[in-house]
Amino acid sequence: MRAPAPSPLPAQLRRKRPEPPLVSLVVPVFNEEDVIPVFLDRVRPLLNADAEWEILFINDGSRDRTLDVLFAAAEQDPRIVVLNLSRNFGKEAALTAGLDHARGDALVILDVDLQDPPELIGDFLARWREGYDVVYGVRVDRRSDTFLKRFMAGTYYKVLGALTDTPMPPNVGDFRLIDRRVAEALRQLPERNRFMKGLFAWVGFPAHAVPYARPKRAAGATKFRFRRLWNFALDGIVGFSAAPIKIWTYLGLGVGAAAAAYAAFIAIRTMIEGVDVPGYASTMIAILLACALQLVSTGILGEYVGRLFTEVKRRPVYLLEGLYAHARDAEGVARDETEAVAAKD
Ligand code: UDP
Ligand code: MG
Repeated sequence: MRAPAPSPLPAQLRRKRPEPPLVSLVVPVFNEEDVIPVFLDRVRPLLNADAEWEILFINDGSRDRTLDVLFAAAEQDPRIVVLNLSRNFGKEAALTAGLDHARGDALVILDVDLQDPPELIGDFLARWREGYDVVYGVRVDRRSDTFLKRFMAGTYYKVLGALTDTPMPPNVGDFRLIDRRVAEALRQLPERNRFMKGLFAWVGFPAHAVPYARPKRAAGATKFRFRRLWNFALDGIVGFSAAPIKIWTYLGLGVGAAAAAYAAFIAIRTMIEGVDVPGYASTMIAILLACALQLVSTGILGEYVGRLFTEVKRRPVYLLEGLYAHARDAEGVARDETEAVAAKD
């Protein structure tokens, strides 16, 4: 399935990589006490001598023993860095925190539940050494997802693709390797609505796709309930397309034109056939339709205005409780002045 086709990357773009590179694994975790040891057992043997490694766990306000498990693991393994957010900010914010604090020449973003097979890291790195700045995983087998989830995701990405000017490859999640300069590019994006898939696509850079089959979660349960997914979906559309808010001018014009034509028809018919009182049904339908249209358009306006409000407030995307690393001291890599960066040995 992994088909390492000959690279079409122009020779000029083959940039020299530092050898051995420092590679950061960026792993957001939220209530994952069960799966972290499984993750580490699977990942550690893959961390070979070709590179130096850092495993950056971002604890996204877990309410179980996740933080204890992470600290215990970090005691044993100095490559583990724990970034503790002050509360649960969501996966997108956790990833943003990770990108801000990872120090690698290359960063690999992966879920802790082993749905992003860590065995691909080697392939990712090989492509990066060839010169690609982004190497992302493409899910070719989503049997681990329910039919409904696959169907909804498929439809959603079709709609999003039709609406936006930022093409996002289908069946691609956050699982990817990015070069340092891509991470720096992402850090320059100031928005608070961090729809990472869209941001990854927006920054561009030479990219290579690696297909993989998405397995089931190794342990624990998914953290995405319907409401979260719904908001996430809206973030993607509203953040990357202005079409939904602009379409109302045209819809309004269309409905207006139809109404005008119908009005002319009624006027002429009344002149020819005289006054015709019945028409309750058609009147009601017209009124209800117009009302519904107005409500929907106001609602969509609300989606944009609400997000503008979040942007305008300029609150930081996340707050750190602390950064815990053996091999690091407190470096002021703060995203905002308001962000407190603590460090501990
Ligand atoms: N996650 C997070 N913050 C959240 C929700 C999820 O950091 O608020 C992490 C979670 O621990 C996991 C990754 O994001 O490492 C993907 O979550 P999950 O497996 O629940 O999502 P799914 O695979 O079901 O889409
Ligand atoms: Mg998962």
